[in-house]
Amino acid sequence: MSPVGSQRKRFIAGAVCPQCGVEDRTYVLVAASGQSRHCSDCAFSESLADLPEPDSAEPVGAWEPVKLLE
Ligand SMILES: [Zn+2]
Repeated sequence: MSPVGSQRKRFIAGAVCPQCGVEDRTYVLVAASGQSRHCSDCAFSESLADLPEPDSAEPVGAWEPVKLLE
């Protein structure tokens, strides 16, 4: 196993692998293409593309910044 620089690995505390049943071995890989869940003990992998993304984007043009002119 070699680490991939463009991906971030995040272990999930208390998570149990649905394939081998081992606790604290599953982790989430965050990549530009999306997130996926993996197990470091077996070959389990699952795409997390179904997760809803947080809608934090402000609508552009809905408001105008107020400029204070002297
Ligand atoms: Zn596993």
